[in-house]
Amino acid sequence: MVQRLLAPGEIEALDHNAIPRLLLPQPRSLFTARAARLRQLAKNEIKGIPVGETLRGYLLLMAALVDAQAAVAHALPAETFALPDAADIDVSLEHNMPPLPVSGARPPSWRAVFDALLDQLDTLADGQPQIAAVLAELRGLESAQLEGCADAVLAELTDSVHPLHAPFVAAALQVMWTMRAGQLDAQRVQPLVTNTLCPVCGAHPVASVIRIGGQSQGYRYLQCSCCASEWHMVRVKCSCCEHTSRIAYQSLEPADANSAPENTSKANDPSKVARAETCEDCRTYRKIFNQEHDYNVEPLADDLASLALDLLVGELGYARASGNPLLWFNAE
Ligand SMILES: [Zn+2]
Ligand SMILES: [Zn+2]
Repeated sequence: MVQRLLAPGEIEALDHNAIPRLLLPQPRSLFTARAARLRQLAKNEIKGIPVGETLRGYLLLMAALVDAQAAVAHALPAETFALPDAADIDVSLEHNMPPLPVSGARPPSWRAVFDALLDQLDTLADGQPQIAAVLAELRGLESAQLEGCADAVLAELTDSVHPLHAPFVAAALQVMWTMRAGQLDAQRVQPLVTNTLCPVCGAHPVASVIRIGGQSQGYRYLQCSCCASEWHMVRVKCSCCEHTSRIAYQSLEPADANSAPENTSKANDPSKVARAETCEDCRTYRKIFNQEHDYNVEPLADDLASLALDLLVGELGYARASGNPLLWFNAE
């Protein structure tokens, strides 16, 4: 048997073909890891994402909500999360449309997910009258109100949702979409015409993340705010308007001024864990979290905990490209 060495050009071609374009979510570990990360952030244990006392309680509440998401994803029967008919998925994929669109009719079983989420949270409400009151309000919503809230959440109509209700509705929808996205065949899902929307469901990304390990080494992905799928986008490119010429990065922690230039690419640099990628062309930003500098970065949790970075970038005049489904208050 003759082994042939590959020329450098051939190696690059192999590598390029091997970039996983789409990383589908693994819901059974996703929600558990997200809840753990939120608790660590709440304890101010993450270098690069300092969390103050005012945000702590909210992060812990959201950690409990994500725990409930994990429990519901495990507990409900598989048919709750049934995919659309194969023929419908085929038609969507042939037309370059997302196979599980957030627009249009949604599976009625999302209401079972919502009810189960609220039931999971009852223990949390013991001795916490404010949470008990919110849960009672959510249970008291009429069907049309609840569906209207879900429509507004999925369309990201920040002004038409109740900021205390929306995270709970969004959480149920996330479970519904994430559980279904995890059953798709990543090879068959094609990027949309605009690479700034999720190829699985068409929602906006919550943030982007530079992944390490395996074939994703050093590549940047956008994580969907709804179904948690991650799709590839080259680095140093605006995830809102796709321009590349006037991109800059803002960080809360200044880079260590004393570090020698040869050390600037070293791993575990807190100033590079969480940055805002700003674009002069559309004057928006999205955050980018870097696994090279913190292995456990979690785009949605880290985005929620880094409100201080939103304030900093907001003061510089940039607008957030899209929201975080677990936060519907104005950051200020
Ligand atoms: Zn999606
Ligand atoms: Zn832009």
